[in-house]
Amino acid sequence: MSEKIVLTGSRCRECDTVGYPAGSRCGRCGSETDPTELSRQGTVWAYTVQRFAPKSPPYVPPSSGFQPYAMGYVELPEGVKVTAVLDSGALDGLAGARAVLVAAEPVPRFAITTTPETGVQ
Ligand SMILES: [Zn+2]
Repeated sequence: MSEKIVLTGSRCRECDTVGYPAGSRCGRCGSETDPTELSRQGTVWAYTVQRFAPKSPPYVPPSSGFQPYAMGYVELPEGVKVTAVLDSGALDGLAGARAVLVAAEPVPRFAITTTPETGVQ
């Protein structure tokens, strides 16, 4: 059994607005919120490609050495955009791609499942 991968946001008790990262107060109306489990699938809203190794620490390069990777915003059905690393074979044409959550720690990570150009990757 693997531990369930989940991103926790916050949902406003008054206006139902969802926020991420979770906050104790609604970003829209300031009312109190409750923790809410976010959807695990979303759409790449915008992204960029990290083509050089970030400063280390905090970045920990993989044992095989640095490889360029994509990162960006994944928009979830709740209307929140989550900053995430994007696991993808191709680094082009990811805007609008479908993505599924594969890790929540230490940073959110989504795997690209389909892209607008190829349909299936
Ligand atoms: Zn609110």
